Formats: sequence, C-alpha cells, structure tokens
Amino acid sequence: MKTIIEPFRIKSIEPIYFTTETERKQKLAEVGYNLFGLKAEDVIIDLLTDSGTSAMSAMQWAGIMNGDESYAGSRSFYRFEETIKKITGLDYIIPTHQGRAAEKILFSIVGGEGQIIPNNTHFDTTRANIEFSGAQAVDLLNENGKKPDFIADFKGNMDVEKLRDFLTENAEKVPLVMLTITNNSGGGQPVSMENIRQVSEVSKTFGKPFFLDACRFAENAYFIKTREKGYEKKTILEICQEMFSYADGMTMSAKKDALVNIGGFLALNDGVLAQKCRNVLVVTEGFPTYGGLAGRDLEAIAQGLEEILDENYLQYRIRTIEYLGEKLTKAGVPLILPTGGHAVYLDASKFCKEIPSWQFPGQSIACALYIKGGIRACEIGSVMFGKYDEDGKTISPDLELVRLAIPRRAYTQSHIDYVAEVIIEVFEERANLRPFAIVEEPPLLRHFTAKFQEL
Ligand SMILES: *Cc1c(COP(=O)(O)O)cnc(C)c1O
Repeated sequence: MKTIIEPFRIKSIEPIYFTTETERKQKLAEVGYNLFGLKAEDVIIDLLTDSGTSAMSAMQWAGIMNGDESYAGSRSFYRFEETIKKITGLDYIIPTHQGRAAEKILFSIVGGEGQIIPNNTHFDTTRANIEFSGAQAVDLLNENGKKPDFIADFKGNMDVEKLRDFLTENAEKVPLVMLTITNNSGGGQPVSMENIRQVSEVSKTFGKPFFLDACRFAENAYFIKTREKGYEKKTILEICQEMFSYADGMTMSAKKDALVNIGGFLALNDGVLAQKCRNVLVVTEGFPTYGGLAGRDLEAIAQGLEEILDENYLQYRIRTIEYLGEKLTKAGVPLILPTGGHAVYLDASKFCKEIPSWQFPGQSIACALYIKGGIRACEIGSVMFGKYDEDGKTISPDLELVRLAIPRRAYTQSHIDYVAEVIIEVFEERANLRPFAIVEEPPLLRHFTAKFQEL
C-alpha cells in the first residue's frame, strides 16, 4: 500500500465555516492585516500553531471525566508521574500549566545576572524567561542548520565543538546546557541521538547539568528511528528512554507532544534543585501534586503521552508535513528543506523577491493565503523578530519565513491538499503580492497586536 492513512477515525467533529474572498478581504482590513486579530471561526484551515490545538482521543476524553480532583495526592497525579518516569527515567516530576511556567521556575532559580545558557536554538519563551531572569541566552546551532535548503538528516544538532569552546571560556557562568528537540525555532529540525549523547558528554566534562527542551520529543524520536543507523529496530519508547537517559532534566509543553490543549511539566534528577523548584511552584502554580493543572488535565496528559509513542501515529504525523512539502516543492515553492516535524516553513524572501525584508514579505504572503483560501499561517521574520537601530532603520533576522504549523490529528489529507492548492496559487500569482508597512505597534512582542497597511 502506498497511501499512509490517518490512523484514527472521527467520532466527534467541529464544523468549519466558509467565507468568500470578498468577506475575508474585509475582515482582514478590519483587524489591520494582523492574522492574530481574526476570529478563529473566520478561518477555514488554522495553521497558526500546533500548540494546544491537538484533537484528543476518546480515551483522553474519558480521562477528563475520570480525573481525580483531590487537592493533594490525586490519583491522576500518580498516573501522570508514573507515565513520565517510564518514558524519561527522571526522578522528580513537577506539573505546570504550560511549558513556559516550567521554564520560569527553572530559570528563576538557576538564571540571573551574569549567567549564560547555551542551546541549539532557544525557543522564544525560553529566551524570554532566561533574559527576564537577567541571564543571557546563546544559540550554538550547527552551521548547516542555518541554511534553508541544505539537505541533511539532523539540522537541529548543536555544534559540539562550539559548545566545548564556549564552556572552556565561560564555564563558571553556565548553570546548565539545554538542547531543544525538535528545534522549533530552527524549522522543527531533529537532533540526532549521537548529538544528544555528545552534548551530554561535553556538559558532564564541565560538570554542567544537561536539560532537554523536550516539547516534540516523540517526533524527534521518530526521525532518529527512520534516519539514524542502529535505531531502525528499536521502539519509539526505547528511543525516547535512551534520549532522556543522557539528560539531567527537561522542560515540556504538553500542548505539543502530549496531545492536550493545556499543560506542561518540569522533570529532573537533582533532588535539591527539585525542592527549590517546588518551593517556587507552590507560590506561582500550585501544590506539587497538581501544579498549575486540574486532575483531569493530568489524566489527559498521561494518556496523551502513551498515545504519542504509537509509531503509526508518528508515521502519519511526519508524513503529513513531508507530503505538503513535496507538493509545494514540485510546484517550485521555496521552503526550508527537508521538512521538519510539525510545520512547513515557506522561504518568504525567495517566494517574493520583489519585497525587501523591511516591507515584510512574510506578512504579505500570510495575508494572501488568508484572502485566497482562508488559511491562517504565521509570519516568522521581520514582523516577529525585526528591531530598529538608533536611526529607526529595521534590522531584520537572518530568514524571512511563513510557518504553516499542522495541529495534531485535527486535519485530514484533503485539508492538506487544499492547503497546498492555495499556497501554489498564491505562489503563481506572486507578482500581485503587495509590500506592507507597520502603522501601529506595541513596544514588546509586536507581532501579536501590530497593525499594518498595504502599500
Ligand atoms: C511551545 C514551546 C515552549 C513553550 O511552551 P508553552 O506551553 O507554549 O508555554 C517551549 N519550548 C518549545 C521548543 C516550544 O515549542
């Protein structure tokens, strides 16, 4: 059989509301051409993020009903703890309301003025929490990982030599080393087992704890199984167990690879640090057996973590992204290659060469995708990361991207076919894409609320 089918059937559905191109034009103008301002029901296919947008299984919904809401010692907590221990082997499991809460707790303890935390590429909330503590976040991604169309199996790998040099120079300032699997901000690219092992070894040599930002650990494990020698015959669980065996701790957003709509956790081996984390947890999130969550959430996460290890699911998941990537590549649409674990990233500078980065090519494409087909994507370029220098000139990031993140288990193959058709049509009509200017913006995280004007 050639077709990889969705490994589930649909028991409960949500309607999609259709709009016309004229209606969408008007709605987009009303919100100042910022897709975050749209009402979700005015979107046909919502690819803004894969975070918290998963469809839960019947067993997860059953878990929601079955959740134990006891304040202390809830049965659901013990199931949650046991499941995470089975997968990670880590000793202390601390539930939080989402990934950034785990980061906030960790870095309020180990961060602070003068500290530096290396990573392959820090995710924005990780960077923000590190910088908020007064510390510095440093990216040590391998050089090939920075080239959009360079084909390699593990473009998320950290440059181990750079890490060694970095630690030689800065050891006393580094409280821990992090590695993000898969590398979200670098295109959802995986990290190899060899790289995880090496980063762990170098960290140990310098006496530094090694933490995984493990939001997409199962997607990463599937890439290891299919791309790294020696792992073909291992189960996803075995691969995950090996990955985590090299780590001293992890932060996790359950909104990704735990297949739930809210939740997260922090897990670690150091009992003294765990106690300090729990002290912060009690003040900011809640009692250690529920953290920032309800018993029902813990139950749904535990079930989701079991389901994410299913190889049929992961095959369908990774194939969905690859399938969309193949269709686009065949039509000449420029994107980050190979496609990663959770999203397709269009290369906006190559997509519309006429629009310079300071006139937001990614924003222009994202708006066109919405008007053409009601698809909501996310600009990841000068709108999100652009800064002004002293003369008010825009300093752009290295890449101008448009991310189409695919929610887990929410869309079928025909939805993906439709998405490809819309993108290809916008690409063929790219001469019509208009430059944009920002007419209103807040001082921080401007992409969420800025208003634009078509030039
Ligand atoms: C989503 C994400 C986070 C933050 O998690 P939230 O649940 O959104 O707070 C941290 N790191 C990575 C790599 C992520 O993808």
